Parts: sequence; structure tokens; C-alpha cells
Amino acid sequence: MLRAMTHRVMNFAPGPATLPLPALERAQRDLLDYQGTGISIAEHSHRGKAYAAVHAEAKGLLRELLAIPEDYEVLFMQGGARGQFAILPMNLLGPKQSADYVVTGTWAKKALEEARNVGEAREAANTEKEGAFTRVPTNAEIDWDPNAVYAHIATNNTIFGTQFFEMPDTGKVPLVADMSSDIAWRPVDVSRFGMIYAGAQKNLGIPGVTVVIVRRDLVSRGRKDIPDIFRYASIAKGDSLQNTAPTFAIYMMRNVLDWVRDQGGLPAMEKRNRNKAELLYSAIDENPDFYRGPVEEASRSVMNIVFRLPSEELEARFVAEAAENDMVGLKGHRSAGGIRVSLYNAIEPEQVGRLVTFMQEFASRAG
Ligand code: PMP
Repeated sequence: MLRAMTHRVMNFAPGPATLPLPALERAQRDLLDYQGTGISIAEHSHRGKAYAAVHAEAKGLLRELLAIPEDYEVLFMQGGARGQFAILPMNLLGPKQSADYVVTGTWAKKALEEARNVGEAREAANTEKEGAFTRVPTNAEIDWDPNAVYAHIATNNTIFGTQFFEMPDTGKVPLVADMSSDIAWRPVDVSRFGMIYAGAQKNLGIPGVTVVIVRRDLVSRGRKDIPDIFRYASIAKGDSLQNTAPTFAIYMMRNVLDWVRDQGGLPAMEKRNRNKAELLYSAIDENPDFYRGPVEEASRSVMNIVFRLPSEELEARFVAEAAENDMVGLKGHRSAGGIRVSLYNAIEPEQVGRLVTFMQEFASRAG
């Protein structure tokens, strides 16, 4: 009954973002009466049996799909990726030490600024040009400090639509990556990283849980003179359950990852996502007099695709008319302007096809 009344549109938003329909439908079923317990999954105790199984399954799915090696901890935390901007240096950046940061966008810059509230942090590269970021640096352009305690990058820059495809080589210095808008769209070699973190609200589920994947030697090296609730070692020891976990967000992540597995895991996601991005970039490139992609080709993100139209007025019209055609979430970030299309895992290839048709029609009408 509810289904017949429901009208879902195509949501290209950057996060919170579209979710796989089967993951939502499963939540709808589990919401009033979880597996015959008579209460919803959101009402179960974080220490009870029903939730414990969900917690373990979510963690197990992450380990399996991302092929996380045994010597890494998987932590579920709160506070979002920005929380990690602070919690990471609190744990790993001690007095008389320095951390390296590569500045490739707004979030990467905020991560550096937050680290400087804790200790010493150095800018190892910065690709800002005239207030915008249109590429990520090559490894040769990055001035790594061989004595840094860690080296931080944002692997996908959600606002400016740039992405690292090859991870930089930091030698013995542990590479730490904000993968908020990059995680789980393709396989990555986790062993290349000391730590990976991501807010869940893009490829993993809904806001409320932040995933931290961190090598055990870094966990045990963590500072002990910080509040216990922020210590990676304490969270690992308590299986991310020393206080009330964001149970519903973790439950949703379980549903989303189960769907990813059903689709064939990350190799299947990669194929699907690369095809979607190619379709969209082709639509931009085929019409260079009307659509302009500011990002350099080698840095073009597969997850967040940004482009401009000839005027801001046309951009506003594009967004409004797209919405009339059931396509929402297309307005660029307020600091960057233009159009941004986020193509996370749950976006169906068919939806990109419909957006591309709309783009072609709009250009021939307005161009
Ligand atoms: N890093 C990146 C790459 C992001 O895209 C975002 C949010 N869009 C953040 C950090 C901030 O995340 P949160 O809101 O979870 O703190």
C-alpha cells in the first residue's frame, strides 16, 4: 500500500546520498518488528543479542568486501570525518613531531587546520589555483617529510570533483586517507595505508557512524594522555561498544554492504561506476560549447562529477528543470558553484542515462 503511494526521484546528492532500494526496503521491514522480537532494530539495546549480530555482520562485511588484512582494526566511531580530522592527530601526533598534509580541496585543508590545533602539521603539497582545485598532485610534486609521523591525503575531493587513482608513495611514513567519498566504490590495497577513515553517508549508508580502519601498530602507538573516549586503542579494545553505538547507522551500513556483496562486491561496483562516469564525462565533452568540466582529465573523479554551464542563470535553470524531471541534488557546493553529480554505488546506470538525455536536450534548447 505504502509502496504504491511512494514516489522516489533520482538523487544525485553528495551525501547524505541515495541508498540502494533493497537496503531501504529491508529497513522498512525491520523497523516495526525486528525478526519477531516485537521491537524495531532502532529500539534494541546496543548490548543485546539482536544488535550484536548486526554489529558483527557489518564489521565482517567491511573486512570481506574491502579485503582488510588481519593486522588492521575496524572501528565504528561518531563525529563524522571532521571528528577524525581532530581525533587522528590527537592519537598519533605527539609533541616534537610533525605530520604531513596534502591540500587538494576544502576538506583536505580543514584536516590540516584541525591538525594544527593539536600539534605541528606541514603542507606537503597544495594544488589550489585561483581559489579552486582542479587536479591532484603527482607523487613527484609532493614534498614529503621522511620524518613525519603520518602523511594525510583526501583520496576523493567531494567538492571539486578530483580524485587520486594512484596512491602516493610515502615510503615508511604511514599514509592516512580520508576516504569519505571514495570508500567501497572499487577494490583498494588496504595494506598501502596506515589508516583509512570515512563518514558513512555516501557509499556506506547514513550519517551517524564513521568507519576507521587502522593498522594495529598505530593503534598501540597512540597517545595515552588524551581522553579515553577518543583513544583508538580503547575503542578497539571495547569493540566500538564502550558507549552506546549509533546502532541504526551501523544497521543501515550492514544492509548497504549486503547489497554490495549481492551485486558482486567491489570489482562489480568498479565496473559499474567507471561506466557511469564515462557516460557522464562523454556528455560533457561532446558539448564543449555548452558544458565545461574544469577538472584536468587525469584527476577527474568517478564519484563526484562537476561541470559548468555558460552562465549562473543557466545553471540555476538546469537545476530547476532537472528537478521537474525527478532529478535532484545537482547543485554544486556553495563554495564552488556550477553543477555536481554524485555517482555513488547506489546510483543506477539507467539513472545516469536519463540525466545524460536531459543534458543533451537542455543544451539543444538553451544553447
Ligand atoms: N571529508 C570529505 C572528503 C567529505 O566529503 C566530507 C563531507 N562531505 C567530510 C570530510 C566531512 O564529513 P563529515 O560531515 O562526516 O564530518
